[in-house]
Formats: sequence, structure tokens, C-alpha cells
Amino acid sequence: MLDYQNRLENVKIRGNKVTAACPACRAAGRDKKGVHLYYNIATEQYGCVAHQGDHAHRQTIFSYAGIVTEPTEEQRQEWKERKEQERKREALRLLAAADERKAMAKMPEVLDRILTPYIIEDWYLELLDQSPIRFRDNESLRHEFILRLFYSDDILWLGNRRRDSGSPRHAANFRTCADWLKLAKLPQMIAGGVFCKGSISRGGDHVDLSPYIVIECDQLIGHEPTTPAEKAQNKRLSAALIRYCQDVLGLILRAVIDTGNKSLHAWFDRPSESDFEALIKHSKRFRIDHGILTGCQYSPLRLPGCIHEKSNQPATLIYLNPTIS
Ligand SMILES: [Zn+2]
Repeated sequence: MLDYQNRLENVKIRGNKVTAACPACRAAGRDKKGVHLYYNIATEQYGCVAHQGDHAHRQTIFSYAGIVTEPTEEQRQEWKERKEQERKREALRLLAAADERKAMAKMPEVLDRILTPYIIEDWYLELLDQSPIRFRDNESLRHEFILRLFYSDDILWLGNRRRDSGSPRHAANFRTCADWLKLAKLPQMIAGGVFCKGSISRGGDHVDLSPYIVIECDQLIGHEPTTPAEKAQNKRLSAALIRYCQDVLGLILRAVIDTGNKSLHAWFDRPSESDFEALIKHSKRFRIDHGILTGCQYSPLRLPGCIHEKSNQPATLIYLNPTIS
């Protein structure tokens, strides 16, 4: 709002309508008559007749006569209600869209009820669109992935095979993030945790820190997906589960990788111990892969471009939200 009573000149009030000299114009030596500014006391809208739609000019006016006010309790309440209505409308819209697909999605009723409001047909594009980091070429995506999620002195396991671990020659698979980044080409798998100095094995004992959890669901549709349509549906439901985890469980999403076959890997910030325990309790119902959920820190996970041995398709990065910016 504007402090029209104290900080404007040539103020004339008719009902809710105020006219006055425009302080921005006057500062530039114009508006000699002092009639450029208009202000509505009820709506708090204001502007300059000589600079309609000029945002910078309005900002200047505000810098001369503006008052920053806290929203009233009434305004807050109104805002909250509007948000809630929007949310309900959106949920209804999603529900309606999902109804059409129900026949195909033979998932258990409980999952249906929980996930249906979160299903989006264009989930892939939406995740890409919401990704805080925009990817360009595929070549550097592995670099981008570790650069954005790990600190430079974090010791990471990367390897091309699951068994690249356990003997002295595998010391080369354990390097700091900074050292990995120096390589032109990176191996295709990573363990989710940070390892102790001198590790040669990615066994759980050697994990120093586990900043992330990874959620994967191979059978969200209720059984092993085999046809392309079932695999697509499994990924669509996985994307819905990701949204559910963000929205209801409050998990912070860091990365989503399409493994190239039938599932997604969703990397989240590791939640508090109690939240994690609650998630583990839920994980059966959601058919979340228990091994990866509890052991991503030492499990080999696909990096972008990793070729899936069953489908021959590369894993693709869909979403990346940097921890390290
Ligand atoms: Zn003006």
C-alpha cells in the first residue's frame, strides 16, 4: 500500500480514489501539475497515468511512498482457503483423468486409492520440466550427476560391473568425487553412499556417510511388468509414487533416473531416522524394493547412459536437483 496521507504531494481523495503527484515523475522533473498518480484505498492498486504498465516506474513510486504491510489474519485465511480449493480441484482433475486408465492398471486397491490422484499422463515431460538443472548433452550427464550430488572430497565407488569390489586392485574404483570428475569417461554404476578412506570393498562396513535413499518399484502394477505397455504403466505409477513421497511424506527429491527397462530410481535426501522407519513400514504396501531402500549406500546403481542388460536401453536422467550448487 501507499502512504498517501504522509508521503505524497497534492493529494485529492474522492471515496476510495486518490490522485496525487507522482513522486517518480517529479524526481525526473515532470508532473508539475501533480496529477499523475492514482491510488485506490480499497484495493491498494496504484499507478502513474504517464507510465501505464511500467513496472520499474511503479517500483520507484513504491520506493518513495510504499509501506510494506503484513497480510492480515483475514487475508491469510482467504489465501489458505483458495490454495485448498485449488488443491482439491487439481486432485479431482487427476482422479478423473486416471479413471480412464483404471481398466489397464490392475494394481491393488490400496495403491490405486493412494496413487491415483498423483498420476500424470505426461509424467516424463513434467519431471524434465520441473528439473532445477537442465541437461544438454548426454556425454557429460554422469559427471553432472556426481558433481551436483556429492562434495568434491567425498569418496565414491563407481564401477562397470557389480563385482568391481573386494580386492586390492579395486582401490581404483574408490576415488574422491573431484578425482572422478577429472576422467573423461566415467563407469556406468555408482553406489549411493560415501566411503571411508582406503576402502577397496563397497561392503556396508566401509560406508562413511549415506546422504541419500533410493526408491525403486519393480512391480507397482501388482505383478512383474512384461509387455511395453505394462512397463510404461509401472513407470507412470512410479512417477506418481515419487510425487506422493514429495507431497505427503515431505521427502526432498534429488534425482530421477529411468533405468531403461521398467522402473525409475528416485534419489531423495535421507530423511530423519523416524521418518525413514515409517517409510520402511510403508514400503511393502508400495512394493518398494527393500534392498535398494535400505542399502542404496553400498548397492551398485545405474548412472545415466548405463545400458540395461535386459532391454538394451540406456538409463536416462530425467530430474536433477543439486545438493551442491
Ligand atoms: Zn509517474
